[in-house]
Amino acid sequence: AVPLVVSVSTSISAKKGILIRNREAFERAKDVQVVVFDKTGTLTEGKFEVTDIIALDQLGEEEILKYAAALEAQSSHPIAQGIVEKAKELGLEPYGVSESKVLPGKGVRGVINGKEVFVVSPGFLKEKGLWSEDERVKEVLEQGKTVVFLVLDGELVGALALADRIRPESREAIEKLHEMGIKAYMLTGDNAKVAKWVAEELGLDGFFAEVLPHQKSEKIGELQKQGFVVAMVGDGINDAPALIQADVGIAIGAGTDVAIESADIILVKNDPRDVITGVHLAKATYKKMV
Ligand code: ADP
Ligand code: MG
Repeated sequence: AVPLVVSVSTSISAKKGILIRNREAFERAKDVQVVVFDKTGTLTEGKFEVTDIIALDQLGEEEILKYAAALEAQSSHPIAQGIVEKAKELGLEPYGVSESKVLPGKGVRGVINGKEVFVVSPGFLKEKGLWSEDERVKEVLEQGKTVVFLVLDGELVGALALADRIRPESREAIEKLHEMGIKAYMLTGDNAKVAKWVAEELGLDGFFAEVLPHQKSEKIGELQKQGFVVAMVGDGINDAPALIQADVGIAIGAGTDVAIESADIILVKNDPRDVITGVHLAKATYKKMV
């Protein structure tokens, strides 16, 4: 049978918008020493807006957007949504895509007008032996923006810079964790400059950037090997293995089904401060039961 204190506490937590899927993990939450947050959609709103389109070769800005939006219509990534939205706003009709494939943690590949097209991360671009020393690209990276690149038949033709917003609640969440003696880290596939900017804004204890999806759970494992009890908070398909690896996996309610199914605890309200509420509840619940 479920001990009374636990069942009472479960209904209290449900009222607060905290759903417990795994009681053992909920119990471990009382001893958490490190909380690792996913960046996009967890510490930030995950709503990207295209702020700059940089033409690097033969295409104009509108053409760059038409190619990029065509490919991104095949992806559900928040970056993709921002790019598709921008094309709509400008009344641009994306090109037709004959073939496409999402490259998790890297971008999208497709065929448009008989040409092989990629919209990809800085890391993937370098992997392909392409990079841009363009001053405008450097500048948007310096500004802490997310930058993706358009590659057409093996040539780098453009860059799109996007900005996301830090959730207003995130700073308080980090402060409260610190008051409890819990460290806060961030894990992201995005570029190191954005990560550094967010980490500084929020006063995080550390971050891992340009982490590929399969490496996210490895990072959690590294922290566990150092002896820490680790909670991971995320929302994306890419976060699922890390949520499973963590001692306590916490999904943000607006997250993908895969993240929610992989989590021990679900924060219904998308508010990172609810991580603290959850830890307090776990402490209160399991203290009474000794
Ligand atoms: P996050 O950790 O922020 O959830 P992901 O692992 O999903 O990031 O993606 C890492 C990086 O890969 C992004 O910052 C971006 O550069 C690139 N990327 C991922 N999906 C897309 C996409 N649909 N279009 C363009 N770039 C993408
Ligand atoms: Mg995310």
